[in-house]
Amino acid sequence: MPTFPSSQIILPGAAVGVLGSGQLGRMFAIAARRMGYRVHTLSPDTDTPTGQVADVEVKADYDDLDAVAQFAQQVDVVTFEFENVSAAATETAARYAPVRPDGRVLHTTQHRLREKIFLRDRGFPVTPFRSVRDAEDLSAALRELGVPGVLKTAGFGYDGKGQAKITRVEDAVAALRGRAGAEMVYESFVDFEREVSVVAARGVDGSFAHWGVIENRHRNHILDLSVAPTDLPPAIEIRAVEVARGVLEALGVVGVLCVEFFVTRGGDLLINELAPRPHNSGHLTFDASATSQFEQQLRAVCGLPLGATDLLRPAAMANLLGDLWADAGGEPDWAAAARFPNVKLHLYGKADARPGRKMGHLTALADTPAEAARLALAARDALVRRRS
Ligand code: AMP
Repeated sequence: MPTFPSSQIILPGAAVGVLGSGQLGRMFAIAARRMGYRVHTLSPDTDTPTGQVADVEVKADYDDLDAVAQFAQQVDVVTFEFENVSAAATETAARYAPVRPDGRVLHTTQHRLREKIFLRDRGFPVTPFRSVRDAEDLSAALRELGVPGVLKTAGFGYDGKGQAKITRVEDAVAALRGRAGAEMVYESFVDFEREVSVVAARGVDGSFAHWGVIENRHRNHILDLSVAPTDLPPAIEIRAVEVARGVLEALGVVGVLCVEFFVTRGGDLLINELAPRPHNSGHLTFDASATSQFEQQLRAVCGLPLGATDLLRPAAMANLLGDLWADAGGEPDWAAAARFPNVKLHLYGKADARPGRKMGHLTALADTPAEAARLALAARDALVRRRS
């Protein structure tokens, strides 16, 4: 298998391949095209959020290894925005171009159990958990960790999909229904004070950059609002960044990775999960930072020096889910959001506004994080035309 010298810089004019075609790829492609790179995207769809702004959109299954090989031959580096790509696909791509981050990072982070074991074994703080395959494992986990807890599918879960909260031991059997034999994780329910994330990047040369700590509020397990900077005690922020640095180092990531944490009422940090790519909570960096998480991903995977991550102003990001279309009784009132001069509208080019689907987001900039949050929420509210 060829190895690609890590010292080789991939310069503007080169082509970057993205496996996956959602909004993360779209914003990555916008950043890459701004800097003069060409962008190719591969996914099983057409007219995708990424494809709409890429130079080349390839429609193929991730498991179509001939298509993946052909795709990789036409680009100078391969990255991804969708982490549930098979090892076979990343290995195939790696024969023709550097894949960053590499397949080992994906392998660890695309499976909750592998990820948690990896973190625990290296001394990182994770939510107490047990591996579960059947009723026997689950009752042992319940005995050891107690209730409440959350039963999660180990593979291919996101935004709370494949999760069941167990508050009474009697409910455990129901939580297993339809999932027996599947790999699962039972973890203690954390009565957290808040949820935060650290989005960070590691360069080919091991350099490290981060955007500090971002506070996240979820609704129905889906990120709703992110705000930065936080008002956490500095010692907790420093610790969160140090943990994130350690995680990126331990995984040997090249690119952006997000560490999601619970902050307990006692001020402890527990890692909830990792995302080996730009993350929804980092979207506010697009408007509020010297270098966005998307440009940083590009810089990292191309072997360029990392850019400055100063937050230029306090910022808040509110997600726009498909539900908004139902609430608005049709197309949201985009002109109303435009009347907020310090609010930026991002729409992902998705035609079908299904409930729970991430359609876009708003970023508000203000003098304080609280004011930014207020503005982002007010602008989102204004999108829904009130019917009298
Ligand atoms: P996840 O898909 O694991 O990131 O979960 C989505 C959201 O569900 C988290 O951001 C939390 O708000 C909530 N959640 C997941 N696991 C736990 C837990 N062990 N304790 C408390 N809340 C949780």
